Amino acid sequence: MVSAKKLKCSQCGKEYLPDMITFHCECDGSLDLIYDYKKVRKLILMADFIRERPWHWKYWMFYPVDDLTQAVSFEEGGTPLFLSKRIRKTVDLEVFFKYEGSNPTGSFKDRGSSIEITKAIELGANSVCCASTGNMGASVSAYSAKAGITCKVFVPEVTPSLKIAQILGCGAEVIRVEGNYADCLRLTEEANRRYDVYLVGDYPYRSEGQKSVGFEIVDQFYWNVPDYIICPMGNGTLTRAIWKSFLELQKVGLINELPKMVGIQAEGCHPIVDAFKYDYDKPIPIKKAHTIADAIACEDPVDGYGALHAILESGGFAETVTDNEIIAAQKLLGHSEGLYAEPSGAVSTAGLIKYKEKFEGKKVVSIVTGHGLKRAPVGDMPEVMTIKNDFDELDKIFP
Ligand SMILES: *Cc1c(COP(=O)(O)O)cnc(C)c1O
Ligand SMILES: [Zn+2]
Repeated sequence: MVSAKKLKCSQCGKEYLPDMITFHCECDGSLDLIYDYKKVRKLILMADFIRERPWHWKYWMFYPVDDLTQAVSFEEGGTPLFLSKRIRKTVDLEVFFKYEGSNPTGSFKDRGSSIEITKAIELGANSVCCASTGNMGASVSAYSAKAGITCKVFVPEVTPSLKIAQILGCGAEVIRVEGNYADCLRLTEEANRRYDVYLVGDYPYRSEGQKSVGFEIVDQFYWNVPDYIICPMGNGTLTRAIWKSFLELQKVGLINELPKMVGIQAEGCHPIVDAFKYDYDKPIPIKKAHTIADAIACEDPVDGYGALHAILESGGFAETVTDNEIIAAQKLLGHSEGLYAEPSGAVSTAGLIKYKEKFEGKKVVSIVTGHGLKRAPVGDMPEVMTIKNDFDELDKIFP
C-alpha cells in the first residue's frame, strides 16, 4: 500500500483496512480512502511532478495502488480543457470545457475503471460484475478484457443499444434487467452476497480514480483553482471525487483555494437536488427516472450523500435542467464549440446556461462527461439533401 491508510465511512465514521474487499459500510454509507498526506507530499516532491504532462497516472500517489507496474491502463485521462469560443460570449463568463469524451471508451468512467480493475487484480479477482446505465459497463468491459478477466454487466431495460454494443464489443456479458438502474444495483449487490462475485461500480476505489478530473484541471490551470466546477450528477461519484481531489491538493500544500461545486440533475431524476433544496441530509430516492440523459438516471444515488456534502461544504449549489434544455445545450456544444457530447454530457452546460446569473464574473469549468457517439441522436435530425451523382446537381448547392 503506497500511502493509503484506511477506509472510513463518510456517514458513521467506522473504519476499515484499506485493502478490505468492502463495498459499503455496515450502515450502508459509502467508504472513503484516507491517506498519509505527509507521505503523499514527500512522493510528489520526489517525482518530476511539475514537468510531467497532466494525465491520470501522474497522480499515482493519490491512489490506493501498490504496484504501479501492474496498473491496467489505456492512458486514460489527460483530456483537454478548452477555453470556450462562443458559449462564453452568450453567457458572458469565462467558461472552460473539460472534454471527457476523449477518454478511451468515451467517458470519464475510464479513470475510475483503471484504478478499480487494477485493484481487483491486486486483490485476486478473476471476474467482476457491475450494474450500469451503459458507460460504466462499456468502460469496465474494456478494462476487464485488457486485464484478462471476465465481466458481467447488468443494464436497465432502457439502455441505448449503442452502449450495449460497446459493452459486448469488448467481450463482457450483458444482462438486461426488466427494471431500472436501482434494480440492477440491487441485483448485483445480492449476487455479491450470494456468490461472492467481485463488485465494481461507484464504490471506494472507483471514486479514487475519478479524482484525476480535478487534479488535471488544477494542473492545466498551472496550479490555479477555478471559481466553479459544474458536474452532471447520476450517482454523484464524480462530484464527490472532484471535491476530494481539491481537498487533497490543499492538504499537501499544492493549492490554497477551493472551488465551489455545482451539481446538475435532470428534471426526470433529481434525488440529490431535492435533498439540497429541502435541507435533507441524504438524497431522496425516486421510483423511476424519466430522462434522455440516460447516464445520470440513478434513482437512488450510491454516492448521493457524498455529492450533497461536497456541494454544501464547498458553498456551491444543486439544480435541475429539463430534457429540452439538455438537447439545446448538446446542440450548442456541437455547433458553437465543436464538442460532440451525449445528452448526459451536456447536462452541466445546460446548467451553466440556465443559471448563468449565479456565476457572474467567475471562472467556470463545465465537465462534458461523455462522447456524442455513445447513443443515437434524440428527436429529428436536420434534413439531409440527396443529389444525383451528376456535376450539374452542384448548381443546387452552390447557387
Ligand atoms: C456516469 C456518468 C455521469 C454521472 O456520473 P456520477 O459519478 O454517476 O454522478 C454523467 N455523465 C456521463 C456521460 C456518465 O457516463
Ligand atoms: Zn457507516
